Amino acid sequence: MKTPTQASTIDFDSAKLQRLGFNQPSPLAARSTSLAQVRQQLVQQLQTSLEPQRILGLFFREAQRVVPLDALTYQHKPSDLRLEFGQRGHHTLSYNLSHEAEHLGELVLRRNQRFTESEQGDLESVMSTLLYPLRNALLYRAATQGALRDPLTGAGNHIAMDQTLEREIDMAKRHMQPLSVLMLDIDHFKRINERHGHGVGDEVLKAVTESIKSPLRNVDMVFRFGGEEFLVLLANTSRDAAAIVGERLRYAAQTQDYFAGGTRIELTVSLGCATLLPGESAQSLLRRADSALYVAKREGRNRLEMAG
Ligand code: GH3
Ligand code: MG
Ligand code: MG
Repeated sequence: MKTPTQASTIDFDSAKLQRLGFNQPSPLAARSTSLAQVRQQLVQQLQTSLEPQRILGLFFREAQRVVPLDALTYQHKPSDLRLEFGQRGHHTLSYNLSHEAEHLGELVLRRNQRFTESEQGDLESVMSTLLYPLRNALLYRAATQGALRDPLTGAGNHIAMDQTLEREIDMAKRHMQPLSVLMLDIDHFKRINERHGHGVGDEVLKAVTESIKSPLRNVDMVFRFGGEEFLVLLANTSRDAAAIVGERLRYAAQTQDYFAGGTRIELTVSLGCATLLPGESAQSLLRRADSALYVAKREGRNRLEMAG
């Protein structure tokens, strides 16, 4: 086949669930024990989380026991959620997930080799395990969003930042994965307020948030923890990789268009980056990122500084 893109809609209605073998017993489940096992394990594992990040991460890992995959991306626009796992592959399978009339997001699976029809069937079968966990996670997210979000920019607030940071440190330690943070502060933001007024300042804050979010794999990890100060959490990201992301964010913020009336406002940001040390606390990690940010400011702004 020539076209690398295969698109489908998965409606988690009961008839389809049955066809996908969601309800036992089913001929599909009997066809392959490993498929049935993976599904059963996934059903159990996915129940343990209300976080889309964990749910899809587990799904990505387990689905690969059935069909090799290079990447997974998930998007749920109504809740400003975008997640990405793995590297890119040029053959894609896209699914529009829904349950009855409810939109549950778009799932895209990628790899460099074409997907066969039987692989597609297996993947769809494994995908059926996502329905309830994903729906619960989206409902939970909608319910908690108000309490954990900064109303102006839609970024996570201070409470969310503290909770997420503790959780990510825990995960990093448990899985022995690197964790990096970027602390970002708008340069001379006071001047923008003074020159153009607080209203324009607010609009600029929103635009900066968008510019930070767009290059990231997980927009859920952006927090506004001070007036014009943001923290970006980079799970499973080494110091070198974080430096690349930091530089990308610096560039994205600088090249984003900001307008006051008809005139474009020049704006830059400074960043401090720190990578979790063995046994380090959240507080210490933030302190090191903050010190690096301080150096970036002192060295002339519009730059990224790495913590020692
Ligand atoms: P630096 O490059 O050293 O960071 O300079 P700066 O002017 O950005 O830093 P400073 O901390 O002196 O000023 C931050 C300003 O951000 C002060 C405050 O009025 C403004 N600010 C904080 N929160 C908001 C907000 O929600 N909306 C607007 N419009 N301005 C805000
Ligand atoms: Mg500041
Ligand atoms: Mg500032």
